[in-house]
Amino acid sequence: MTQDPRKPPRALDTELIHHPYLPPQDFESVAPGVFKGSTIFFPDVAALRARRWIDKSGYTYGLHGTPTSFTLEERLATLEGGRHTLLVPSGLAAIALVDTALLKAGDEVLLPDNVYGPSREFARHELARWGITHRFYDPSDAGSLGSLLSAATRLVWLEAPGSVTMEFPDLRGLVRLARAAAPRPVVALDNTWGAGLAFKPFDLGEGLAVDISVHALTKYPSGGGDVLMGSVTTTDSKLHEQLALSRSRQGQGVAANDVETLLRSLPSLPLRYAAQDATGRQLAHWCRARPEITRVLHPALEGSPGHEHWASLCSAAAGLFTVELDARYTQAQVDAFVNALRLFRIGWSWGGPVSLAVPYRAQSLRSLPVPYGGALVRFSAGLESAQDLIADLEQALQVLKGRGGRGAE
Ligand SMILES: *Cc1c(COP(=O)(O)O)cnc(C)c1O
Repeated sequence: MTQDPRKPPRALDTELIHHPYLPPQDFESVAPGVFKGSTIFFPDVAALRARRWIDKSGYTYGLHGTPTSFTLEERLATLEGGRHTLLVPSGLAAIALVDTALLKAGDEVLLPDNVYGPSREFARHELARWGITHRFYDPSDAGSLGSLLSAATRLVWLEAPGSVTMEFPDLRGLVRLARAAAPRPVVALDNTWGAGLAFKPFDLGEGLAVDISVHALTKYPSGGGDVLMGSVTTTDSKLHEQLALSRSRQGQGVAANDVETLLRSLPSLPLRYAAQDATGRQLAHWCRARPEITRVLHPALEGSPGHEHWASLCSAAAGLFTVELDARYTQAQVDAFVNALRLFRIGWSWGGPVSLAVPYRAQSLRSLPVPYGGALVRFSAGLESAQDLIADLEQALQVLKGRGGRGAE
């Protein structure tokens, strides 16, 4: 009597776990396979003892990487022009990892005054508690950074352009200054806006490069407004190892389903970035001709702060810009304008298909004085038709003017 091939030799509950079937190995498709695992099996004890988790020579534990996360890390390293990339659960986690991996009590970190707000808050509330000081330099004035660099400076953050007010700094000048300081601080760039496409952080020209590029993958690489993730990219293997060790000690891992979503979005990143750039510029130009708007902050627009630095470094721009409304409009009127928008939705973040608007008060974001007296509204272009978005802005501007107060016309 032959054994029924469908009748397992062990109890069913065991067999459903230790099933003998292995699929053929040569499955190739458009999407890379998605591997999930906390536990990863070793063939024997010697392999368990021998395997290194710090490089990508094998697998040890899900927290330290899977074929899926390694694949995304390698593609992002290529995007940023770096050699090593680490994934973390959000863009802010990427910033926090750089800060905490590199700084200790007594050190100082220098931040541009227009730095991404939560990065400022991390320095003020977390780093300060650990005896790490921070100071803000004026990103439009390299001399301001020069005057703050000291023996305690271990890390200099750059952002191009700055959050909300969009001033584009002289990146080369800032990097040159930081690199000439003794001891030489690590230079880290928040490259979320550039996304690896507008300029190359590890090849800024004139032999200049940043040491670390941090990217909120939540924005353009995701492109869907549905995933939070961040990356930290370096060219220096020792620096990478320091960051990788700290990431693992801090227990920072990413979920395979989120990595899968990123891997699916990444091929269309250059197309989406270009489309959102084109729409952003169209909207920004339209806004510049409007009498209700006193200033349009978009680094690709002539006259915008740091435009010349953008022009000398960049081949593209993100679809982000900020307008300053005439100071005669009250905050209530500006809020009514934002509330009246229909296609633009009110919400944080950017880079997804839906256009977004958020009102800001410039001075409340800054330590140094800012030249913007009117209320600001930051727009992010989505993937809708530019003509429809312009019509939306136009109807909402009627509401801005129509709501009594000093701005009534
Ligand atoms: C959104 C953003 C971040 C943070 O990304 P999250 O994934 O939302 O934490 C960091 N830097 C910049 C410039 C950003 O716009």
